[in-house]
Amino acid sequence: MNLDNSLQDALRERRAKSLYRQRTCVESAQGVEIVRNGKSYLSFCSNDYLGLANHPKVIEAFNLAAKKYGVGSGASHLVCGHSHEHHALEEALADFTGRSRALLFSSGYMANMGVINALLKRGDTVFEDRLNHASLIDGALLSAADFKRFRHNDLAHLEQQLSQSNSIRKVIVVDGVFSMDGDFAKLPDLCVLAEKYNAWLVVDDAHGFGCVGKNGNGSVEHFGLGHSDVPILIGTLGKAFGTFGAFVAGSATLIETLIQFARTYIYTTALPPAVAAATRVSLGIIKQEPQRREHLTSLIDFFRQGCRDLKLDIMVSTTPIQPVLVGSADKAMKISHLLESKGFWVSAIRPPTVPADTARLRVTFSANHTIEHVASLLNALAEAFNAVE
Ligand SMILES: *Cc1c(COP(=O)(O)O)cnc(C)c1O
Repeated sequence: MNLDNSLQDALRERRAKSLYRQRTCVESAQGVEIVRNGKSYLSFCSNDYLGLANHPKVIEAFNLAAKKYGVGSGASHLVCGHSHEHHALEEALADFTGRSRALLFSSGYMANMGVINALLKRGDTVFEDRLNHASLIDGALLSAADFKRFRHNDLAHLEQQLSQSNSIRKVIVVDGVFSMDGDFAKLPDLCVLAEKYNAWLVVDDAHGFGCVGKNGNGSVEHFGLGHSDVPILIGTLGKAFGTFGAFVAGSATLIETLIQFARTYIYTTALPPAVAAATRVSLGIIKQEPQRREHLTSLIDFFRQGCRDLKLDIMVSTTPIQPVLVGSADKAMKISHLLESKGFWVSAIRPPTVPADTARLRVTFSANHTIEHVASLLNALAEAFNAVE
């Protein structure tokens, strides 16, 4: 069979359904204003929630560390790639999350695959919210454990599954803030169920850290929970931290277990030390500048009120992820293109990333946006929705 001919069918089908994905080359740093194809856009699609990806102090730390350590880490952490910078960041993240230890991973995708596979084997069961991030779903699919998916935030459904399970080892896994809807997992109720059924709770707080909680400590802080409630906590560094990588925080025993058994930790090159150095500085900003979170909250409130006035279909989110529901993938693409022609970059999220007929514009905010930016987006949304009605 000819390779390209046989692959073409699936590509054609994707195009026909308005589901074809394309990349856009960016010619500037991440920021509120972003340049592509020589044209400047007001961006509402990055996960750089606190505006740290291009912060001068973060860049300076990166440059200094690159001068000292070079660019590549040279090897995995267990061979000779674990530098002082990685170690110092792990200690700072353990301190920040109030846990005994933290362990760096090279990406959130890998942290999630690694944690699930290090903790579970055949005969165990992993329970996941249907809207969990793809990396958590893939982690469970890769493991030998039984895999149960419960309806989004439907704890009665989860309880039914837990009560029917005979597994000794049970793990419940959720996003702290769901990446495409922006709502919180019901962590306090999940803790009650975890305790009742003797399961361990894993929270991937990729979109919570830095953005929510008084001190930016994420969903766990938002709900006033602690280590004993959420013993396995995952964070990513490519979003509010503005850098790259991920971490798992928990007990010393959990971290030692991951060092021994998480294959995505063991068999991969350590992050560049300069990324770790830059992240330590962005962690400092997260802790020292709560005004970034407060400003985000005012942008979110202003946007939500504006959407209600325009009768746009927003979701229950109170986080910087503010999806506007459209429905069909085709219409979502049309609106996204109209916004583009007006100088706004807002990404359309389509199936299979979200369920069928729930295509949406995934609007995200950064602490570097102003109220005027958000007001201009609301105007453009009103015009674009009117144009495709
Ligand atoms: C982005 C994201 C990840 C993946 O993290 P990367 O560091 O980008 O690989 C994992 N989980 C959630 C919930 C995410 O939003």
